[in-house]
Amino acid sequence: MTSTVSVSRHGDVAVIMLDNPPVNALSHHLREPLDAALKAERDDSSVKAIVLACAGRTFVAGADITEFGKPQKAPSLRDLIDTLESITTKPTVAAIHGTALGGGLELALGCHFRVADKGARLGLPEVKLGILPGAGGTVRLPRIVGPEKAVAMIVSGTPIGALEAEEAGLVDALVDNLVADAVAFAREAAETNRPLVAVRDRTARIEAAQTDMSGFEKAAAEATKKTRGLEAPLACAEAVRNAITMKFDDALDAERRTFERLVAGDQSKAQRHLFFAEREAARVEGVGKEVRPREIRKAAVIGAGTMGGGIAMSFVNGGIPVTILEMSKEALDRGLGVIDRNYGISVSRGSLSPEAHKKRMAMFTPTTSYDDLADADIIIEAVFEEMAVKKEVFSRLDAIAKPGAILASNTSYLDVNEIAAMTKRPADVLGMHFFSPANVMKLLEIVRGKETAPDVIATALATAKRIGKVPVVVGVCHGFVGNRMLSARSADLESLLLEGATPQQVDKVFTDFGWPMGPFAMGDLAGLDIGWRNRKSLGRKAAIADAICEMGRYGQKTGRGYYVYEKGSRTPTPDPEIEKLIEDKARELGVNRRTISSDEIAERTMYPMVNEGARILEEKIAARPSDIDIVWINGYGFPVGRGGPMFWADLTGLKKIAERLEYWHGKTGKDVFAPSLLLKKLAAEGKGFSSLQASKA
Ligand code: NAD
Repeated sequence: MTSTVSVSRHGDVAVIMLDNPPVNALSHHLREPLDAALKAERDDSSVKAIVLACAGRTFVAGADITEFGKPQKAPSLRDLIDTLESITTKPTVAAIHGTALGGGLELALGCHFRVADKGARLGLPEVKLGILPGAGGTVRLPRIVGPEKAVAMIVSGTPIGALEAEEAGLVDALVDNLVADAVAFAREAAETNRPLVAVRDRTARIEAAQTDMSGFEKAAAEATKKTRGLEAPLACAEAVRNAITMKFDDALDAERRTFERLVAGDQSKAQRHLFFAEREAARVEGVGKEVRPREIRKAAVIGAGTMGGGIAMSFVNGGIPVTILEMSKEALDRGLGVIDRNYGISVSRGSLSPEAHKKRMAMFTPTTSYDDLADADIIIEAVFEEMAVKKEVFSRLDAIAKPGAILASNTSYLDVNEIAAMTKRPADVLGMHFFSPANVMKLLEIVRGKETAPDVIATALATAKRIGKVPVVVGVCHGFVGNRMLSARSADLESLLLEGATPQQVDKVFTDFGWPMGPFAMGDLAGLDIGWRNRKSLGRKAAIADAICEMGRYGQKTGRGYYVYEKGSRTPTPDPEIEKLIEDKARELGVNRRTISSDEIAERTMYPMVNEGARILEEKIAARPSDIDIVWINGYGFPVGRGGPMFWADLTGLKKIAERLEYWHGKTGKDVFAPSLLLKKLAAEGKGFSSLQASKA
């Protein structure tokens, strides 16, 4: 036998062991010997039953993604499952540990029975790569767990635990000694002549739906409620529907055709790009595997405002107790009150138990004394965005924090090196830039100062993972990656309004593109007064935005901003008063209003954003284009199906983007439109940003 597949005998039961590290992916060099082994054991009359098991840490965790988009060399996974289903006289049993995901679960569904250890997880996560299970998963799973559960599992892509799988009928037995118990299970099935019905021939679970689709349609509607413009979730639901309404083989063929269409489409390419990009982002120059993260047992957060509260919740949710420091008892009470209410909302939604709520609240220690931070392993500052305040906080931290404690600032824009210089331990200082609401948003920009030690970065990366964040390491500059590009995206908005666009027209271009909201609705949500105060402090003006704030219209919190909001509603309604204000301002400034096209809006907002991304790469603030994509997908609502701004720019064509930027630069003279050297160079060479990726995604 080959090294990936070996067969052993346990009396008259054959155990086929797969061994394709690290996750037993279904590569061709596994499929070929597996097919041969299955046929050999099928045809060997001395074998009474067959167990399929895996070596290493997991059952087959999926297809080999590197084979996607290429024709599968025979035998395909479907061929393998056909072979399994051609075994009709002896039981076949999948023995599952670790994760049976995607193709792995489809393979297991080709067996008569599935046994699992209690820690196993099973699921069909293909939707997350913009595709659907392509080897019968959508047709077989409903036949075992019923179409309602199947559609929920396949559309969400979220795996279920072994216990739930057993309740659903997906697992026939939970066992302790996986292979030995699976062998015993198989032998007993053979000896007691348990009926051997291939999953494809089981119809009991779908019969009810065949006469009344309403239960299924309800489950499908629920599952596809938030598809964010993605095709794959809808295709998954349709495939499960086919499993009910079509003959098995027809549904299988339809699934295959949909798989091929989706895998060749831009959305799946974008989602596969992001899958690799997220893993790639964890690889940081100078922070190899040999760099050990420091141990984090206790955290502290300074400031219990909007961000401090959310950051503290993230740590507690990740199991790390937090001491929160504020200036006064009142501020502490207010901050903890908000946290308590947030958990209360989760309880009322049923996503958190009342006991867990209580337990989590007990993990916060409020204080007004810096002395109480002396035993914290990591301290995150989230006080006002003012350099003087930050500096004072860091010099106080330097005086009390224990040696080796990590000192982080959540600053949005400020110079982390300047903050670090306030301490005698700049190697322990970095930026940890969370996004609002910090207990929800996934992105964490880890800002590496010029003196930040590699193990401090390693610790921030490991901590991010523990608290459920997606980290990206960035360099120091004004606004880092995300906010700096956001400024570029916003730089021409005022002019667009003055020249003829309306807030609703601009926002529609964004929502049509797939963003959850456009920049004006976003401004109303965040509060327009923040930018106004900022502009005043910098001596800057913005004719329309300033006038709106002067009217006391700060956005949603005052019920009016660029839009009006009905009491208690977050739905923006266009306001004729604002349109008039824009027209008046244009007249005052002598700007002739004209019709502005959707293309023009996209060019004057999203192209400068891409251009700023190119500058960020030039300056090595981001290590690779895909890191920028991860920032925008996880922190700013860039549509997942478009893969992030740099991936999208490549699809759009850098030549086109550079040309249009030149055009707008000529017309407006604004620096945000001046194409960066990198963009010009790549455009001239006919290349994309992807050509800069060190390792191929
Ligand atoms: P906030 O005003 O809601 O909260 C700041 C809190 O810090 C207040 O409760 C205040 O009492 C407290 N504070 C001020 N000085 C203090 C001191 N010396 N010691 C202890 N506590 C002190 O502000 P925020 O929105 O939470 O922003 C905090 C930081 O996070 C800023 O640096 C901001 O730029 C950054 N940030 C904000 C957002 C956002 O969307 N709001 C997003 C990312 C980062």
